[in-house]
Amino acid sequence: MALDQAELNKILASGQKAIQDASSLALLNDCRVAYFGKKGHITDLMKQLGSLSPDQKKIAGKQINDIKQALEQSLQDKKIILEQSAGDAALKNNYIDITLPGRQSSVGSLHPITHTKNKICEIFRKLGFAVAEGPEIENEFYNFEALNIGPNHPARAMQDTFYFTNQLLLRTHTSPVQIRYMQEHPAPIKMLAPGRVYRCDFDVTHTPMFHQVEGLLVDKTCTFSDLKYIINLFLSHFFEKDIPTRFRASYFPFTEPSAEVDIQCVQCQGAGCRICKQTGWLEVMGCGMVHPKVLENGGINPEEYTGYAFGMGVERFAMLSYSVDDIRAFYENDVRLLKQFSGV
Ligand SMILES: [Zn+2]
Repeated sequence: MALDQAELNKILASGQKAIQDASSLALLNDCRVAYFGKKGHITDLMKQLGSLSPDQKKIAGKQINDIKQALEQSLQDKKIILEQSAGDAALKNNYIDITLPGRQSSVGSLHPITHTKNKICEIFRKLGFAVAEGPEIENEFYNFEALNIGPNHPARAMQDTFYFTNQLLLRTHTSPVQIRYMQEHPAPIKMLAPGRVYRCDFDVTHTPMFHQVEGLLVDKTCTFSDLKYIINLFLSHFFEKDIPTRFRASYFPFTEPSAEVDIQCVQCQGAGCRICKQTGWLEVMGCGMVHPKVLENGGINPEEYTGYAFGMGVERFAMLSYSVDDIRAFYENDVRLLKQFSGV
């Protein structure tokens, strides 16, 4: 006895329709289970084979096998179609538009203060000065005593100096580096000490932290005219033109004689303006011949050697270079402002 072919065709037709209608791989798998699973229609048909004679089994087996193969083929075809569209959907969802321009990464640059400090150091390096650094936390000996600043000197007052306990403080100038350098290096000496210094001060021309570059030269035949020459040379290199200067007698505890150096106003060329307070001159640095006591404190015999020293504020030179009239602009870290100096 053969199985009812009409019945089999019905099973085949409904199976193929279900496969055709499956809109996802999960639904297609449901179809596969419905026909080939443990309780599936094809499995049911197979079970019926057991009650048939060998001859009948042969015929019915072929009938079932035909349906089975037809459905398997349909499942396979549909699977390929669904996988293809699932792949397309994934590609669509993860679409990368390679024509979009990339995010611009901005290139960093040196801070204008660093630029200025480097420029100052470079000029002196070419003149043979070695660059040295020292600690920013100093003791009273190196910051004051060794530099001939006595215990009652106004520079020691609490309102100027940031003190820690145990006689430690934030250095108020880079001069301590010069003492340390003299103690470690035999004369003759030609050195430059750039670095951060700290004073309790804050207005349009002062910040609690600022930068200094100080220079020291010690030799057997060194005179004030040598000092004047080297400073004039430096200033004309820095401002990239011959710039009129004047040396005014002044007082510093660590130099004798001492002088303040003025340059002709770079803004008005001496005519008088707001920057130079109508004087036509701008004070830019201090200098002098090293006090014999300071040489002694550095372990150098003042009978045998003389020296000169000079010191300048890096912010002052940066303000003049970039025509910035408020020092605080350098430390507010407004990138729009800092960017203007990035290429200099
Ligand atoms: Zn001026």
